[in-house]
Amino acid sequence: MGNVLVYVENSETGVAPIAFELLGAARRLAAGLGGEVEALVAAGATAELAPALGAADVILRMEHPALSPYLPEAHVAALTEAIRSRDPQVVLVGNTSAGIDVAAGAAAATQRPLVAYCTGLAVDGEAVVAHSQVYGGKLVATTRTEGPGVFTVVAGAFPGAEGQSGGKAAEATLAAPATLGSLHTRFIAATAPSGGIDIGRADRLVSVGRGIGGPENLELAQELAAALGAELGASRPVVDSGWLPKARQVGKSGMTVKPKLYVAVGISGAPEHLEGMREAELILAVNSDANAPIFEVAHFGSTCDLFDLLPALTERLQAS
Ligand SMILES: Cc1cc2nc3c(=O)[nH]c(=O)nc-3n(C[C@H](O)[C@H](O)[C@H](O)COP(=O)(O)OP(=O)(O)OC[C@H]3O[C@@H](n4cnc5c(N)ncnc54)[C@H](O)[C@@H]3O)c2cc1C
Repeated sequence: MGNVLVYVENSETGVAPIAFELLGAARRLAAGLGGEVEALVAAGATAELAPALGAADVILRMEHPALSPYLPEAHVAALTEAIRSRDPQVVLVGNTSAGIDVAAGAAAATQRPLVAYCTGLAVDGEAVVAHSQVYGGKLVATTRTEGPGVFTVVAGAFPGAEGQSGGKAAEATLAAPATLGSLHTRFIAATAPSGGIDIGRADRLVSVGRGIGGPENLELAQELAAALGAELGASRPVVDSGWLPKARQVGKSGMTVKPKLYVAVGISGAPEHLEGMREAELILAVNSDANAPIFEVAHFGSTCDLFDLLPALTERLQAS
């Protein structure tokens, strides 16, 4: 029997959405392994976070002032402690900026293998078979983990709804490790993305690529974004050229976004860009090149000149 431990990412705004996706995945895995789902919620105070985690069988609450605000060293220690004391077969962590730190640190500390960038997880006999995106999504690697392992799961790989059961989980307190009292790092300040922009929270994004030609043409995209009630995003060349700030960059070395609507304008769809936006619910692409890879992930596409389409589209939206 193998249990599945979910690391519940959280902040002052509550439980992160990825935690529900992990809980849904954990339920399926635990059914296959004949085990239970345990959810580790580690924070300064956990009482307000626990009620959201009804999809777990057991909520493990670990409290310590060093756990809020988020500090990687503290959360690595917390997850390490939970793995050592609960000995789960599977540990699931979001493949997020924080999750990658926490999972890697805890996997190393407990000497368990780490399988990152998972987009699929299934039980086969007593093993876990994972599909992971590697090389920026260019390849899918399949791995088979026979014993205990730590897996980081890409946002959008599993539906969050399955992890949002209104059930009531049992609760247990897990003692915080003593190391939390003697950390080598300390939290100083959180700095908001420049200009207060956080494209990761936008429901709608209009992103521009090199096809926009130059900063003098950005207005066309800004007008479309305004008509859609969207934020403006960008591919890396647009940011590297200084046309838009880094906080607006989508992709491997920028932000990972999952908006309801993503409009890609003059973006070719390089793997490093797709890595940051392919989980958007609805993707529209505008590109004059019908062979551009962006059309492989787009739900709808327009193979026309953006300079023809954008003004017409904005005008139509403004009129409606
Ligand atoms: C380690 C690493 C990290 C990276 N991180 C990122 C990242 O975070 N984000 C990112 O975006 N990239 C990233 N890149 C860069 C990535 O590989 C691509 O170079 C980049 O995404 C290309 O940007 P683009 O699509 O805007 O430009 P291009 O590839 O040049 O594409 C421009 C597109 O515009 C189209 N176009 C041109 N004119 C028009 C027109 N008038 N109307 C309609 N369409 C038109 C063209 O057909 C073309 O498809 C990274 C690369 C590396 C190596």
